Amino acid sequence: MSILDAKHFHDEEAAYRFVEARIWPDGPVCPHCGGVDRIGKLKGKSTRIGTYKCYDCRKPFTVKVGTVFEKSHVPMRHWLQAIFLMSASKKGISANQLHRMLGCTLKTAWFMSHRIREEMRSGNLAPFGSTGGAVEADETFIGRDRHNPPVKNARSAHKNKVLSLLDRDSGAVRSYVVKDLRIRTILPILEANISREARLMTDEAAHYQSIGWNFADHGVVAHSKDEYVSKADRTIHTNTIEGYYSIFKRGMRGVYQHCDQRHLHRYMAEFDFRYTNRVKTGCDDSERAGRILDGVVGKRLTYETTRSKGRADAWKRRAGWAEW
Ligand SMILES: [Zn+2]
Repeated sequence: MSILDAKHFHDEEAAYRFVEARIWPDGPVCPHCGGVDRIGKLKGKSTRIGTYKCYDCRKPFTVKVGTVFEKSHVPMRHWLQAIFLMSASKKGISANQLHRMLGCTLKTAWFMSHRIREEMRSGNLAPFGSTGGAVEADETFIGRDRHNPPVKNARSAHKNKVLSLLDRDSGAVRSYVVKDLRIRTILPILEANISREARLMTDEAAHYQSIGWNFADHGVVAHSKDEYVSKADRTIHTNTIEGYYSIFKRGMRGVYQHCDQRHLHRYMAEFDFRYTNRVKTGCDDSERAGRILDGVVGKRLTYETTRSKGRADAWKRRAGWAEW
């Protein structure tokens, strides 16, 4: 059976049941008063699918209240289709592709994909390497940084800078869009995300040299001398995180092509999420989609979703439209 045959991708009631099972594993919870005991499902002919009533506060609700689905007119089954497609496509899926596959407007597809990225943002911020494992840190450059005009002889100053940390034990990765690579910018990020017990692994870049002492050990590979794995200690390398960046770059070039600086952190969250929850870490495509649903609660995006006035594509300019 194809995974796309699953009923929740085609039947609206099944789609609601699927989302409810994930968000309310112990039964419905009233989003207004937190009640769990006196809740009944409304089954009238004119009742909207998935409506419950709380007899404590006497208010109706659905599983959408307080989530990124709230106020969305997109059917739940289409949300589930979009979530599955985004979670199962290794290099991502463009808004244009979603628009063609789901049969919604391009605008709707664009807002849906950004909301799903928001759901992918990790809530787990426990520090990496707390049992003394290796944590790789590296940076990459992508697109143009509007706030830094090109400078002569500066290879990357005018590009957006991304700092990523990868926990070799769990295989999880976390990325941050940073304004520069000064020590005062990156040290707080390393301190907040990497345990002091960790073995830090970096290349020989100057900004890591003076902060390596914050951790139990600091392994350095000299890329300038064509060294990619330390000969003295084969565990000293940054090859895992470089492999991650190659997936990210192929996706950004091939699928997203251009990305507005304002949204780069969300694209990073998307790639971080898929990599952290990849098959190698014991997570299949369905489970990955389910973990996205775990992130829907309390993350309402305040994007404008009402009908735009004026030119039909004015929303693109306001939203920083950047995909093809
Ligand atoms: Zn209530």
